[in-house]
Amino acid sequence: MTETLDVLEPATEEILDTIPRGGVDEVDAAVAAAKAAFPAWRAVAPGDRARLLRRLVAMMEDHHEELAVLEARNAGKPIGSARGEIGMAIETFRYFSGAPERPHGETIPVAGGMVLTVREPMGVVGLITPWNFPLAIASWKMAPALAAGNTVVLKPAELTPLTALRFARLALEAGLPEGVVNVVAGPGRECGARLVAHPDVAKIAFTGSTAVGRSIAAGASETIKRVTLELGGKSANVVFADADVEAAAKAAPWAVFDNAGQDCCARSRILVQRSAVDEFLSVLKGAVEAIRVGDPLDEATEMGPLISAGQREAVASFVNGDAEVAIRGRVPDGPGFWFPPTVLWPVPEDHPAAVDEIFGPVAVVVPFDSEADAIAKANDTIYGLSGSVWTRDGAKALRVARALESGNLSINSNSSVRVTTPFGGFKQSGYGRELGPHATDAYTEVKTIFMNTEGN
Ligand code: NAD
Repeated sequence: MTETLDVLEPATEEILDTIPRGGVDEVDAAVAAAKAAFPAWRAVAPGDRARLLRRLVAMMEDHHEELAVLEARNAGKPIGSARGEIGMAIETFRYFSGAPERPHGETIPVAGGMVLTVREPMGVVGLITPWNFPLAIASWKMAPALAAGNTVVLKPAELTPLTALRFARLALEAGLPEGVVNVVAGPGRECGARLVAHPDVAKIAFTGSTAVGRSIAAGASETIKRVTLELGGKSANVVFADADVEAAAKAAPWAVFDNAGQDCCARSRILVQRSAVDEFLSVLKGAVEAIRVGDPLDEATEMGPLISAGQREAVASFVNGDAEVAIRGRVPDGPGFWFPPTVLWPVPEDHPAAVDEIFGPVAVVVPFDSEADAIAKANDTIYGLSGSVWTRDGAKALRVARALESGNLSINSNSSVRVTTPFGGFKQSGYGRELGPHATDAYTEVKTIFMNTEGN
């Protein structure tokens, strides 16, 4: 009998769907299908591959609302956010649908002839993704991988596999050949680990926690697999006293409580220049208490539940006696993995909430004294994914942004991710970049061909 996986709806704690549970055999079958499909897919003429990807874009557009509702229910995110994320997945495929017709290569004159470089697809690429932005993050990987001529096996997070499974059927309907897009839903330690070990998988593109990222990098070394890692974060939101403090404080909740704080870019360390702390906290209090937490399918909802009971327990462990709760929002009664938006202040510097990734709606406010102090505090972490700098002094803004050890910074803004610009981390937030003009480079190998022009 086929084993099954119950997929829950976090806002109700009810079973939303029951699906076949993949294991090692299913991964092996998917890799074999992807390997068989690769020669024909890489041989599709660039214009035809682009056309097929554009048909997929049209198919996703036709199913935008269906996918958004499925994502909202399965991941517990507000329907408005889910629509935005599916929109981003569509934009990602649209952007990379032009890539097959823009391959990069060089010609380099050398002694005795000419060298040309070409970028070749790698073959079967394994994609392992988390539950926080399920189809959006899968699209950041699938779109450039497919555009470059690879076939893919996607292992979505076991808590949120439904949009990926629906996507795979839409890809077939759009005309992508059988075996080009494969999805196996199952536990990471079985399915993900098998993808990492599989000798026929050329590369792993992973988004998830730093702990699992470490084991993937170690496992991939056995077969010298290419790896890109988008991992955790503990980003700083640095607010100088010469900033528009009110604007910074009003924006700060969405830099950390968006997606109920389950966001790798969450600016969960809010560093505020000491002289501005009182003003900042008083505006922040109003903004946090006004957040509407509730049913993801209610259009007015701004924050949903956490993904699971386990995640709620993990988040709750950061809110303990050593750090005072200065601000706490409201949550609905009854079933659902709810957790209120929470701001801790004051917080001991070595408190876990000030040091570790929380991945829930909990932020700490930390005072700083000078520009140098702000930079030192912001960089005092193993992570380096995102961050913000708020000041009216343009030169200082750029100076501080340059000094922060982080892959994605925003000045007088908290937005980090765009389809058209590179995204990725410094330090233990990972390596490699997704999105932007060079993302297909991570799914190709450079081949150098020398042509003798002097005869033999
Ligand atoms: P996770 O690391 O627990 O799981 C991520 C994926 O890896 C899942 O599909 C899981 O099944 C799989 N997996 C688990 N163990 C595995 C193993 N041993 N071998 C192979 N695969 C395995 O992460 P999560 O809890 O799903 O997501 C939260 C984490 O993801 C946070 O740390 C967050 O910061 C990070 N994240 C990073 C980014 C980014 O772009 N940097 C984006 C979103 C989330």
